[in-house]
Amino acid sequence: MKNMRCALITGVTGQDGAYLAAFLVAKGYKVYGTYRRTSTPNFWRLERLGITDKVELVPFDLLDQTSIIQALQIAKPDEFYNLAAQSYVGASFEQAVSTGEITGLGLTRVLDSIRVVDPQIRFYQASSSEMFGNSKDSAQTLKTPFRPASPYGTAKLYAHEVTRTYREAYGMFACAGILFNHESPLRSLEFATRKITYTLAAIKLGITDHVTLGNIHARRDWGYAKDYVEGMWLMLQGDKPKDYILATGESHSVEEFLSVASDTVGLDYRVCLRVDDNLYRPMDINSLVGDPSEAEKDLGWNPKKTTFDELVQIMVESDLRLLKTEKWINLEHIKLLSQLSE
Ligand code: NAP
Repeated sequence: MKNMRCALITGVTGQDGAYLAAFLVAKGYKVYGTYRRTSTPNFWRLERLGITDKVELVPFDLLDQTSIIQALQIAKPDEFYNLAAQSYVGASFEQAVSTGEITGLGLTRVLDSIRVVDPQIRFYQASSSEMFGNSKDSAQTLKTPFRPASPYGTAKLYAHEVTRTYREAYGMFACAGILFNHESPLRSLEFATRKITYTLAAIKLGITDHVTLGNIHARRDWGYAKDYVEGMWLMLQGDKPKDYILATGESHSVEEFLSVASDTVGLDYRVCLRVDDNLYRPMDINSLVGDPSEAEKDLGWNPKKTTFDELVQIMVESDLRLLKTEKWINLEHIKLLSQLSE
């Protein structure tokens, strides 16, 4: 199979990892994906995309440098996408130390392993808009100062700076995509967007009668994950390593998301919404909106491929189909969702 490009994706069991794997398989790549050895296998996203048998799975943990080196030796990748992380902002307040270990220091273990094993590997780091925190800029650009507002944002900022350091110190092709929120039917249920679409589908089907949320006034720049993985790949195809922002350039509140989702299933969200102050984060970001113009200009990436309304509709319709077919969903599950930090 010579001439076939090879990619190693960490976090292939997550939302972006699964979409990126499907994208690269379709492009003819040999794809290796990493998974953690946990008691319960977590391959449902790869199964939903129908690519389980097209991805070579290798064990890997960001806490364990030997597993990182072994994954590199097995895959011998041309491109390395580091998508693995403790990625829940709300949970990072509850698990601040392990978030720093996994999301921050874990990246240093990865880059140091690449530097030793094969520094020619092209490397992508999944940076986050959460690094900006409560920014004063009307739209965040690569020049906007960072001021994270959570242990997650802080850990991502550390990883972001280590990526730049390895690029500058060792001349590695290491770049970071600062991605604003991107969602999909493969988003974990703990995230506010998916919690909304899943619970509204459950209300529509008579499984429950309310959705419980925290800060419905928070504004985010929401895109479609399937569109964003193309931007990650484009960043590794350039002549020089460079960081980019991937965002839509529009912000919407959680309440607007809820409103479009409830319109999609013909419900009035004001009747079924419960706000629980306990779900507020210790510190939250009021508004995030990114400026994707450099990615548009340099990479030809399209930030408006899927509109906000289309994204919400895709998610609600997918959850309706899921809830109609999956038998294991029950009320306890929905109740638990209403108590989780977002
Ligand atoms: P996700 O669905 O939460 O996936 C995270 C992945 O990381 C999972 O495969 C998880 O494995 C893996 N992981 C967690 N801890 C690990 C460890 N100690 N060692 C190895 N793997 C570990 O996240 P996502 O939404 O796909 O996001 C992908 C990346 O982009 C993340 O780094 C995230 O922080 C970043 N990001 C996401 C967004 C967004 O809006 N989605 C925005 C900006 C940046 P398990 O399946 O075993 O848990």
